[in-house]
Amino acid sequence: MNDIAPPPATLRVNLDSDALAANWHQLDRMSAPGRAGAAVKADCYGLGVDRCVPVLRGAGARDFFVAHWSEVADVVRYVPASDISVLHGLISRTETDYARAVGARPVINSLDQAKLWAEAGGGACDVMVDTGINRLGLAMRDLSDPLIATLDVVTLLSHLASADEASPSNRRQLKLFREARAMVKAKRYSLANSAGIVLGPDYTFDLTRPGLALYGGIPRPELTDDIRQVAYPQAALLLRRDLEPGDRVGYNGTYIADRALPSGIVSIGYADGFLRSRGGEALTHEGRVLPLIGKVSMDMIVLDLTNAPDLREGDWLDIPFDMPGAAQRCGLSQYELLTVIGHRLR
Ligand SMILES: *Cc1c(COP(=O)(O)O)cnc(C)c1O
Repeated sequence: MNDIAPPPATLRVNLDSDALAANWHQLDRMSAPGRAGAAVKADCYGLGVDRCVPVLRGAGARDFFVAHWSEVADVVRYVPASDISVLHGLISRTETDYARAVGARPVINSLDQAKLWAEAGGGACDVMVDTGINRLGLAMRDLSDPLIATLDVVTLLSHLASADEASPSNRRQLKLFREARAMVKAKRYSLANSAGIVLGPDYTFDLTRPGLALYGGIPRPELTDDIRQVAYPQAALLLRRDLEPGDRVGYNGTYIADRALPSGIVSIGYADGFLRSRGGEALTHEGRVLPLIGKVSMDMIVLDLTNAPDLREGDWLDIPFDMPGAAQRCGLSQYELLTVIGHRLR
């Protein structure tokens, strides 16, 4: 292997750092009198810890949430370990040892996890209480266990199941969280995710934990004017091909040309998060619409270039990423649309 640098990529995602910072500031303002933290799990929802965490910290975020212990090493390069919470908590002594050595906080999700942490020597931790999502978190009745009173709890959290809907469960969860707050002594209390922030000051407590909206997702229409698009994926045109009437395109030949037309091949596919469900979409070039024809075929898509016959190999095309719209068109959630972005786009 010689050390020649690889040629420039033909896929990229342009990240609007100003928009990312502005989104955090906006969500922080909306979290008053509390502060906004930042959910940075799943590699900042697919946009990259290396690019996003320094921006979020620069904007003022001081509380960072990851899901797995395996995600701590990347984040701790940019923020103090004591600012990182690990949502999945602890399942083994290996994890408690790692937590104590690194200094990131486990989010205790059960009495067993509390026991594991206490037996390992304990220290600062967070506690998640389940108020109705029935996923992670101690049951309300477990909060009165004497073990919980022995923990050094920085943040007591709970997570809303349906904050993106007008659901009666939001009020129910709020009521239970207030009860939990009276039962567990912690430095801070935190309930709301991105959508929860919109529910207003009853829900924001000391700290909120936005994820999706930081990265441009719009979980509730109220946020439309407040949240800016952050990710702008692009792909370069790889090849032009003139199709004849009757030519079949892509896997299974599902598209059959009904006329002569210029087509363009773009190297983007499943591994880049461009799934078959986006097959009915179009890419654009300076506002000109270039519909996909045929199926997304592994690493490639084919476009109808009728609207842009002047395009050349290497020209950059825009992949629509207006979050709510793009998600709706392909039937994925905004969470999925972001987190499936593949490494080749970075
Ligand atoms: C992922 C996550 C968040 C962020 O949620 P969004 O809906 O992306 O804002 C907040 N809190 C917890 C516990 C999470 O798991």
